[in-house]
Amino acid sequence: MQKAVLITIGDEILSGNTVDTNSNFIAAELKNIGIQVSQIFTISDEIDTIKNTLSAAFELGELIITTGGLGPTRDDKTKKALAEFFNDEIVLDEVTFNHLKAYMERRGRIDILERNKEQAFVPAKSIVFQNHYGTAPCMMMEQDGKLCFSLPGVPYEVKPLIKDQIMPYLQEKFNLDYIHTRIVSVVGIPESILADMIEEWELALPENLSLSYLPVGTRVKLRLTASGSNEEILKQQTENEIQKLLPLVGNHVIAVSEDKIEKILAEILTERKLTISTAESCTGGELAKMITSNPGSSNYFPGGIVTYATEKKIEILKVSKETVDEFTVVSEQVAQEMAEGCRKLFNTDIALSTTGVAGPGKGEDGKEIGTVYYTIQFHDQQVTSRLYMPHLERLDFMNFVSQKILQDLVGLLIGH
Ligand code: ATP
Ligand code: MG
Repeated sequence: MQKAVLITIGDEILSGNTVDTNSNFIAAELKNIGIQVSQIFTISDEIDTIKNTLSAAFELGELIITTGGLGPTRDDKTKKALAEFFNDEIVLDEVTFNHLKAYMERRGRIDILERNKEQAFVPAKSIVFQNHYGTAPCMMMEQDGKLCFSLPGVPYEVKPLIKDQIMPYLQEKFNLDYIHTRIVSVVGIPESILADMIEEWELALPENLSLSYLPVGTRVKLRLTASGSNEEILKQQTENEIQKLLPLVGNHVIAVSEDKIEKILAEILTERKLTISTAESCTGGELAKMITSNPGSSNYFPGGIVTYATEKKIEILKVSKETVDEFTVVSEQVAQEMAEGCRKLFNTDIALSTTGVAGPGKGEDGKEIGTVYYTIQFHDQQVTSRLYMPHLERLDFMNFVSQKILQDLVGLLIGH
């Protein structure tokens, strides 16, 4: 199996200003074609550092991919480092220049072509992969049968370069196996117990199949990956194994293909022609965001509302003031009235509500941070639950709670 080494270049990553999402994306894509990443380096924009890291990377793997530091700005030094490392000179590449010119014309910025001309200079020995979403091309150098790709840093330029050009190139070049993946989502069983339940099945998997556990919130995703030269056989093999797995986990399985909870929910809502709305407080719109992240969600989601202040819960959702006074705003009763009000407001089959304290700092009535009550209302049936997650950061809290609510809803809808 080929081993890859990733190098992310940029001071802004080291200083904590930018989160390195490129490595994460590239590693996942490589895994899809059976290439394992053995190391990821994050380094500063310095010629010597880049050169030293390249030589370390060449010791470690057959494939090296760098991102960042290719722009025309002075702090971008990758190209110079590449030329020095590979003992090459930087020359103007006509094809790349014409591509750049066409790119500038399309964007109506031909006036700044000269200023960007630098981008069409590449190491003489490199093979260029044109960038359709930016000005810096991707350059590939080959040495002793090993490949080194240098990409720009901007994620929306990196993604299409990797997906559309580099992955197909690598598959062909290395004559790589097909990889087929299926994900089975399980709820209601802790990971360790689940592992015991399916141990025998897992141990008996054919050699070209592997299993990994990916916990998300209170759900566990079982990812089955098969690799081999015949795609059809792989599909059949994984399907066979899933059919053997299902009786072992019974009705704890909520999906056998889609892996995102909002997608699983979308399938169920569409199939059963159900509509849903949301009334959120401490999740700040995260539930609505997750639901609308699916294309086609307008078919089942007329809307959601964020009622953050207590008076808005009373005014818009018709939560009664007496209920708030008696039980406080972060309470089971308020969550229930919010859901009821929401279902009426949007006239949907299902309504979800949240009321809680995401923190940090105490809630208006002194309740501990990390407490949330949520209600799932399905027609006249209401289920209200409480979660206490004081250790989570604000955004993680919102996401965790929203994931959990959608998981509970899916469980409820499939009668789990
Ligand atoms: P440009 O032509 O835009 O200068 P570049 O190849 O020089 O591209 P950088 O200057 O290193 O790339 O990065 C451009 C921007 O891309 C950064 O400001 C940052 O927002 C983003 N970026 C860079 N590297 C990464 C990374 N590893 N993960 C996520 N975003 C990144
Ligand atoms: Mg730059």
